[in-house]
Order: sequence, then structure tokens, then C-alpha cells
Amino acid sequence: MRRPLRQRQAAKNAKKAAPKEVQSLSFGARSSATGDELSAASGGQATAPGEDAAPAADASATFEETVAIGEPAEIDAGQVEDDEALVKRLIAGHTVQRVYTVKAGDCIGCIADEQQVSEDVIYQNNPWIENDKIKIGDQLNLTVQEPLLNVRSEETVTQTETIDAPLEIRKTDELKAGISKIVRPGSDGKRIVTYKLLRRNGLVVEEEQVSTKVVTPALSTVMLKGTKVTPSEGSGKFIWPVAGHKITSYYGKRWGRLHKGFDMVGSSSVKAADNGVVELADDSMSGYGNAIIINHNNGYKTLYGHLSKINVKAGQVVEQGEAIGVMGNTGHSFGTHLHFEVYLNGKLKNPADYL
Ligand SMILES: [Zn+2]
Repeated sequence: MRRPLRQRQAAKNAKKAAPKEVQSLSFGARSSATGDELSAASGGQATAPGEDAAPAADASATFEETVAIGEPAEIDAGQVEDDEALVKRLIAGHTVQRVYTVKAGDCIGCIADEQQVSEDVIYQNNPWIENDKIKIGDQLNLTVQEPLLNVRSEETVTQTETIDAPLEIRKTDELKAGISKIVRPGSDGKRIVTYKLLRRNGLVVEEEQVSTKVVTPALSTVMLKGTKVTPSEGSGKFIWPVAGHKITSYYGKRWGRLHKGFDMVGSSSVKAADNGVVELADDSMSGYGNAIIINHNNGYKTLYGHLSKINVKAGQVVEQGEAIGVMGNTGHSFGTHLHFEVYLNGKLKNPADYL
């Protein structure tokens, strides 16, 4: 049964009112209108909540207790309570003020446990608490409201919310595993959501999403995520480490000394002859200048010497054809070239047999 506030007041004022239950009242939260004015205020045009509009709401409330208007009775004037005192009594009811002083070792949860109050009460009564920070000597209000009349209210609230731009991950084997890049930045969307809120004495005890309408869809952020895994084991077949190569010195004995590899010129970029793991990438080997050794993990190792620049680090997995450095003239070298050696199971081999 719903009875507008006006009628309730009218009933109260009526002299010959029969006992009536007045358990509920309804009102439009957006207007101050009550009773008959309500239909005029809320009827007609539907109000679409604009971007900056405050949340729209409709509400109704009931007392948990049975509230009735009794038979008129004759009483002493002294028994009539004045309005203010009556309101105070209805609201305060059996409420007993409680204050707790924080002592060493206390925490919100511990106090709630020890003092038999809900943590929610502590947070609601003491809104100054931030990040659960309390210190010795702080006064906490632990008062639990116990009014004579409890009001249960239900309201419908409509508000505009932001839809976060989702992240869309697209896998690609065109990028190495572990590498990712954003190819399209997203944008947030907007939606109108209607909630039904159930409150007890003004505090929300239940929340339910009734409807949602997307106004502007969110645009996802598109991110490419590399999946290409470079095997750390070689294929067993080498490619030339220099594009457009021209051999300037072959492998073999000359003037009583062994030339341990191929010397070549061509494109300045030096490439890994096969997949593998970089074992050495520095200038620590006498005569070789800046040098790289790749362990192909299949018995083979290759060496690249006299580099002007090293682009890899020891431990790094490299792919066949990957640029690992730049041709140079470091170490015991006369003129810019690449010195390239091949080893199988620790034994030096003639590159001619593998290229
Ligand atoms: Zn050489």
C-alpha cells in the first residue's frame, strides 16, 4: 500500500480518523513535490539524462516497523512531547554514543572484532580514516544507530558511466616473442546505467543494475604481440654472413701460417650464418678486434672478426640472417673486411665446405 505524504498528514489532522496503517510514503527525489503534485512533476516528458546531468532518481520508502494512527484519546497536556524532542527520540532511539581511543597495536579489523562492531560502521562514522591509517590516541566513533523507526528505501538511479577502452591483443609472427607495439590507440565509450538501490536508514545495503544502454561504444586499443620464437639451435646450413660478398682471402696455409677462415668484403652489415646463441661479443680475443662467436648448438660455432660495431650481447639468441654487427678494420687487419671462421665440435674447419 502506498500513501502519499500529504494524505498521511491529512489523515493525522482528521478528527475522526479510523486507525490506519501508514507504513509507506513515496516521493520523487528530483523534485520537492509530494502527494498530488508528484504526478504533475513526473508525468509527461521523460527526462533523458544529459552528460552533465546529476543522476536521476526515483524513490520510495517504507518503515520497517508498523506505524499506525490510533484512536483519538484524551491525555494530559503535560504528556504531549514537543516536535523536536519527538523527532530526536525517533531518530536516536536506543542509540548509545560510543567512542574508542586507539591503543598500541590496534588496527581497524582488530578493533571491529574486539568491540563487536562492523568495520563498515567504523568507516562510516569516521570518514577521516584514509588507507586504514590510525594512530595511538585517535578517537574512533563506534556509535551504532538504533533508531525507534527504521526506514527502508528503494530508489532507481540513472547515471552516465565511462566504458574503458578494452585492450585487443593480436598475435603476430612478424614480431619477435616478447616484443609488442600499439598500432591503434583506443578511446573510452559512454553508457547510461540504471541501478536499483536499497537503503536502510540512508545507507546502501543492496545494489542491482537494472538496465544499461551504450551511448558511445568504446574503441579498443589494438596491440600487436610478437610470437616469433627464434630457435637457439642452428639448421645446420649456413648462409653467407655478408650480402654481395667477395672473397679476398681463402682458408689455408700461406707463408708458413694458417689463415683460419675466409676474408670477405661486400655489404657492411654482418649477418648470423645460422640460428644460435651469442657466446662472445667483445674485443677480448687477441688480433680479432671486435669479434662475435655464435654457438649454433648443433656442434657448429662461427666467428666474425675485425668488426667496427657489435650489435649483440653474449647470451642473446640470434636468428639466421639477423644483423649482428658492422664490418670494420679492428684488431690485426689491413683494410675493412670480415674475417669468418667455422668450427665443428671444437675443430677448425674450412668455410668453403659449408658455404
Ligand atoms: Zn682473415
